[in-house]
Amino acid sequence: MTTGKINVSVENIFPLIKKFLYSDHEIFLRELVSNATDATLKLKHLTSIGEAKVEYGNPVIEVKIDKEGKKLHIIDQGIGMTGEEVEKYINQVAFSGAEEFLEKYKDSAKDSGIIGHFGLGFYSAFMVAEKVEIITKSYKDEPAVHWVCDGSPEFTLEPADKITRGTEIVLHIAEDSTEFLEEGRIRGLLTKYNKFMPVPIKFGTRKETLPKPEDAPEDYKAEEVEVDNIINNPTPAWTKQPSDLTDEDYKQFYRELYPMQFDEPLFNIHLNVDYPFNLTGILYFPKLSADLQIQKDKIQLYQNQVFVTDNVEGIVPEFLTMLRGVIDSPDIPLNVSRSYLQADGAVKKISNYITRKVADKLKSLFNENREDFEQKWNDIKIVLEYGMLTEPKFYEKAGAFVLYPTVDGKYFTIEELKEKLAANHTDKDGKLVVLYASNKDAQHSFIETAKGKGYEVLLLDSPIISHVIQKLEADNENLTFARVDADHIDRLIKKDEEQISKLSDEEKDKLKNVLEEIVPKQTYSVQLEAMDSSAAPFIITQPEFMRRMKEMSQSGGGGMFGMGSFPEMYNLVVNTNHELSGSILNTEDKSHQEALVKQALDLAKLSQNLLKGEELTAFVKRSFEMIK
Ligand code: ADP
Ligand code: MG
Repeated sequence: MTTGKINVSVENIFPLIKKFLYSDHEIFLRELVSNATDATLKLKHLTSIGEAKVEYGNPVIEVKIDKEGKKLHIIDQGIGMTGEEVEKYINQVAFSGAEEFLEKYKDSAKDSGIIGHFGLGFYSAFMVAEKVEIITKSYKDEPAVHWVCDGSPEFTLEPADKITRGTEIVLHIAEDSTEFLEEGRIRGLLTKYNKFMPVPIKFGTRKETLPKPEDAPEDYKAEEVEVDNIINNPTPAWTKQPSDLTDEDYKQFYRELYPMQFDEPLFNIHLNVDYPFNLTGILYFPKLSADLQIQKDKIQLYQNQVFVTDNVEGIVPEFLTMLRGVIDSPDIPLNVSRSYLQADGAVKKISNYITRKVADKLKSLFNENREDFEQKWNDIKIVLEYGMLTEPKFYEKAGAFVLYPTVDGKYFTIEELKEKLAANHTDKDGKLVVLYASNKDAQHSFIETAKGKGYEVLLLDSPIISHVIQKLEADNENLTFARVDADHIDRLIKKDEEQISKLSDEEKDKLKNVLEEIVPKQTYSVQLEAMDSSAAPFIITQPEFMRRMKEMSQSGGGGMFGMGSFPEMYNLVVNTNHELSGSILNTEDKSHQEALVKQALDLAKLSQNLLKGEELTAFVKRSFEMIK
């Protein structure tokens, strides 16, 4: 038997490991199962190139709890180690890694910025074990060895009688870590970190009913057998070629990823690059609602099929963090802070690649089946619009597939829209005017008026649409957007025929004075307009710019574009050609005049859904008075 001292300068490394990593103890299992997987795959490689002259077979990794003995076993049938290799790889390599890690993260290990303590390695076992044993036999023709270390830098190494190839790690679970002797806890960890690892992992057994034989007798009784309970799927969809997968395979994998999710994904994007970086994965577009925040953090990040984290901030462009799915890349540095990650060139490339790939996929979906794409538009628009606003690279491509629906269910791209409008939808400055509504019901009368004049009215109702419109106007000089209830469309758009005012200039001045005395000045700017006598007498509109600014200050997923608050400002457009204008003007009775104006204003407010609370009560009361 050999005894020895592990060559580390820190006298007692294990209490330190425990202390620095207290929040992440559970990752020891991921590390040990990863090592077992590496050892198995190394053997596979060596047998495939003829270096190892042994049968590879169908190796599994077994995780076993010995509750009474307070031990946890991780057993593989991989490459194994000779005594010399244990000295080298465990005593030197693993522990120098430990020392280096501590050196590096002494001050920052607990910073929230670090993405998991990946690559912590073998010694992470000491976070939960007071003693660790390794019993291992190499694939080479050498005797097995038994290594024991109790958490001090001293270890023992002696021959063992293990005859099968591979390694068994035995953790003597410490008093404060007995949770790791619970079956539920271990199963949970294996499912979290190892669900898609490439070598089958056995954890316990389960009963399985044998298939009924073809020549089964009448009184055949189903037969049950105990089989290994394999916890993982070693060949998840993202590791396969897109050409080998059907639509159903993709959906099946989605269910595997999100067993609690009952909605089907709308479509998927298979990522697959190996130059200049390695990245595979599948992203899914789910049906999204307007609440963006709660839908984030569903994408899982893997490294060589080992789960790392479900916070992909900085790796995936922000607007795509609302998608679901998996990204697997060995090229993402993990023991670094988020801010470092965002500045990292390789990571930036990955993020750009994902953006491009998503844009290309959207474009081809649009081109291949426009009708289907239109049907899905409502469910995906929020992500795309958000992408247009936040990713210039995405915006460049978005013109090809971003749609602008009309209130009548037609869909236009921006170019189609321009073409459609080019005919006669211009304002006084010669700009193309795009009319839109944000709510079909609330703006019903305005929509009808606009349509009556032959205009297409878009239905743009995302919470961030004002920002999108603002951007479209900035980038398309000859385009201007106006909501149907904005500064009266008659004035915004060239009038078909000039209306002649029934009131003289003098009368108009008088009417304006009367109105301004009664209507609250801070909220309404009174404007007289000679319109068709059949048009409404009082119309409330909101200046497009003011309303949009106000919306922009409120919208955008919890202040993403926060801009401070804006006051309520409206126009009160009064039709001087309507009979009511004459009545107001010609009434001698002051209180009757006031009642007329208030009533008309309230009716205008009512049609804009602006009459509420106390005002509504007063209106109803006044109306009853008038008809009694
Ligand atoms: P890493 O896995 O990053 O190399 P570890 O600290 O996890 O670092 O492991 C150190 C080394 O110990 C490994 O590189 C490997 O050579 C050896 N090793 C660990 N576990 C096993 C195992 N189950 N079978 C064979 N070798 C192992
Ligand atoms: Mg390792």
